[in-house]
Amino acid sequence: AAKGNGRGRFRFYSNDLHQAAEDRRALEEDLRDALSRGEMQLGYQPVVQSKSNMVTGVEALVRWNHPERGMISPATFVPIAEEANMIWALGEWVLRKACEDAASWPGDMRVAVNVSPIQFANEELPKIVASALASTGLPPDRLELEITESVFLGDSAETARMFKALKGLGVRLALDDFGTGYSSLGYLQSAPFDKIKIDQSFVRGATVPGSRNAAIIAAIVALAEALEMETTAEGIESLDQLDLVRKLGVSHVQGYVYSKAVAHDELLEHAEARSWTIKPAGPAKQ
Ligand code: C2E
Ligand code: MG
Ligand code: MG
Ligand code: MG
Repeated sequence: AAKGNGRGRFRFYSNDLHQAAEDRRALEEDLRDALSRGEMQLGYQPVVQSKSNMVTGVEALVRWNHPERGMISPATFVPIAEEANMIWALGEWVLRKACEDAASWPGDMRVAVNVSPIQFANEELPKIVASALASTGLPPDRLELEITESVFLGDSAETARMFKALKGLGVRLALDDFGTGYSSLGYLQSAPFDKIKIDQSFVRGATVPGSRNAAIIAAIVALAEALEMETTAEGIESLDQLDLVRKLGVSHVQGYVYSKAVAHDELLEHAEARSWTIKPAGPAKQ
């Protein structure tokens, strides 16, 4: 009730705000010890190559198993970690854990790791990445760093230097949530991405008659192909959506229609065969 009629309403609203601020402060406090208490976990979501139905990689997604609140989504705590200066420690833990796990997988499955714009702006990042690779023995081309468009809002010379340093390590770079952030395409002239991830907001509704989303996805695929980049359509939940994006030519697909993020043990059971093929599971069950 943003617009109150009368005082009672207004007080109710400001109490809500107060409660939210309290909640956030409490989470921030708990977050300080979450890593040392072993409360952070990685889930791995398969990324499937369209033409072969093979799982060519997985995306590492961090979860917080809070002792009282249960599983908390990164959408809730990553922004807090970013603002409270804790994203660096969290990001380094994610990177090392993901590389360590990936180094133990059979075959050449890749692992994709999300990198916060705040990590990207820190000149120590290439050292941390190099150290994670060296200590785990993971070949660099099996690590893919997912970066969002917002990094292009920073200093352009520094951004270019960071891209060069990361590419110099031999890792792959993916542009996450494409089309939802900074809208200039100029940065694609020079940024050395191997892959564009088409945000799930374009997939949602794309199968509805009259939707323009299919045209947008087709345009992104054409752009990526011309630039010799792969594409992943994110957030595919239904067989109809899967069918559509495959017809539109996306090279990779990721979403609940195949699998949610699973724990490392479960991933290993599936990945035992060198080439792991996976079938769509039909409409997502709620
Ligand atoms: P993202 O990198 O775009 O990751 C995709 C998100 O979509 C994940 O949510 C994933 O679980 C969800 N998803 C996958 N398939 C489907 C689907 O079919 N339908 C729907 N509705 N959702 C689907 P999650 O795990 O909650 O992560 C949210 C965001 O948090 C990520 O978005 C990423 O930006 C951030 N994040 C996750 N892990 C990390 C991390 O280790 N470091 C940093 N800096 N950010 C992370
Ligand atoms: Mg991502
Ligand atoms: Mg994304
Ligand atoms: Mg996202």
